[in-house]
Amino acid sequence: MASSFSSQSGHSRTNAPRLCYCGEISPVKTSMASRNMGRRFYGYARYEVDATCGYFKWIDPPMCQHGREVLPKMVAKMNRLENELVTSRRREKIYCKALLAA
Ligand SMILES: [Zn+2]
Repeated sequence: MASSFSSQSGHSRTNAPRLCYCGEISPVKTSMASRNMGRRFYGYARYEVDATCGYFKWIDPPMCQHGREVLPKMVAKMNRLENELVTSRRREKIYCKALLAA
């Protein structure tokens, strides 16, 4: 049954650097738009300074309707929890200092 095992990941095609219309290496970016949140795409390196290239290609397939509805809520929840963690750690430090000083 070992014959079904394969070291081929199937991702080798996406690992090769892609070039935009200017011939520069196309950076992998992640969409933050709610319709396509978390979906990766190839953009172009000079996006900030020169938008004339316009190279764009999706890497990930479109997300299903359920994913589109749930993911933005999960990201919002994660951000809220991360903020709470920062506040809690700050508070913990203050309490520890107060305990050590007592
Ligand atoms: Zn370009």
